[in-house]
Amino acid sequence: MEKSLNQKVKIQFPNQIELYIKREDLLHPVISGNKYRKLKYNLQEAKRSGCHTLLTFGGAFSNHIVAVAAAGRANGFRTIGVIRGEELVSQIEDNASLRFARKHQMLLHFVDRTTFRNKADETFLKKLNELFGDFYLIPEGGTNDFAIKGCEEILTEEDKMAFDYVCCAMGTGGTISGIINSSNENQENIGFSSLKGDFLSDVIRNFVKKENWNINSDYHFGGYGKVTEELICFMNQFYMQTKIPLDPVYTAKMMFGICDLILKGYFKPGSKILAIHTGGLQGIQGMNEFLRKKNKEIIQYNE
Ligand SMILES: *Cc1c(COP(=O)(O)O)cnc(C)c1O
Repeated sequence: MEKSLNQKVKIQFPNQIELYIKREDLLHPVISGNKYRKLKYNLQEAKRSGCHTLLTFGGAFSNHIVAVAAAGRANGFRTIGVIRGEELVSQIEDNASLRFARKHQMLLHFVDRTTFRNKADETFLKKLNELFGDFYLIPEGGTNDFAIKGCEEILTEEDKMAFDYVCCAMGTGGTISGIINSSNENQENIGFSSLKGDFLSDVIRNFVKKENWNINSDYHFGGYGKVTEELICFMNQFYMQTKIPLDPVYTAKMMFGICDLILKGYFKPGSKILAIHTGGLQGIQGMNEFLRKKNKEIIQYNE
């Protein structure tokens, strides 16, 4: 189950550069990619501590909420999702992720944006405790020490020898932190930020000691969850050429960045790059619902 494969990307790149993609999206049909890795040791810890309820936070299009709902249910936990935005109460049916979470028996608790911003406050957590009883808390995006430990299992021993560069999409920075920890000192790890802002280096420094990494913030395409027609066309074209589906929030932005950097000569000639496919494909349906409403180009992965 936890074996994912490296697949060569069959595109002819300049400078004898070879690109491989680690198909972590194939780890599980819904608990895909890095969310699977990040939850693994958290679920073990929750069980060990005797907690029967998982509580976590997320936005309306959160892959993390979907993963906790599915993984929690599969492992016999009750799950509670605290969701940003009170207005969404009436829109569950219009939102693919929330629909999915509810179908997997996640209890959805909607709060306004101010409350959500202060979700780590003692008083709010106490209130949640009164409402729902004891729970095992998983932070938004799932990043904590247990998550990093899970992500340290993404690279295999072979990967650490075979690749000059390892590329990964970033939200909270948890996944790349695990990758950096387990990487070989000679490898360069590049995190592609899917959101605006430069706060991620501090998060990573919290979790890692090595220096063999950098963050690229040039390919966020307007910010978290934002897409452009150029990005959607890139995804469709990449799929036609490789038959590899990418997700619009994370992996497509990373892959666009990698291809662009190859053309700009960023990578040493003859080098081998490993890109991590962190999953997120279940978010495509929701994105297409949104794009259709706006009469925009949609993601098309049918033959
Ligand atoms: C959540 C997610 C990420 C971001 O992972 P972080 O550990 O938060 O940086 C990347 N890719 C996909 C597909 C995700 O769902």
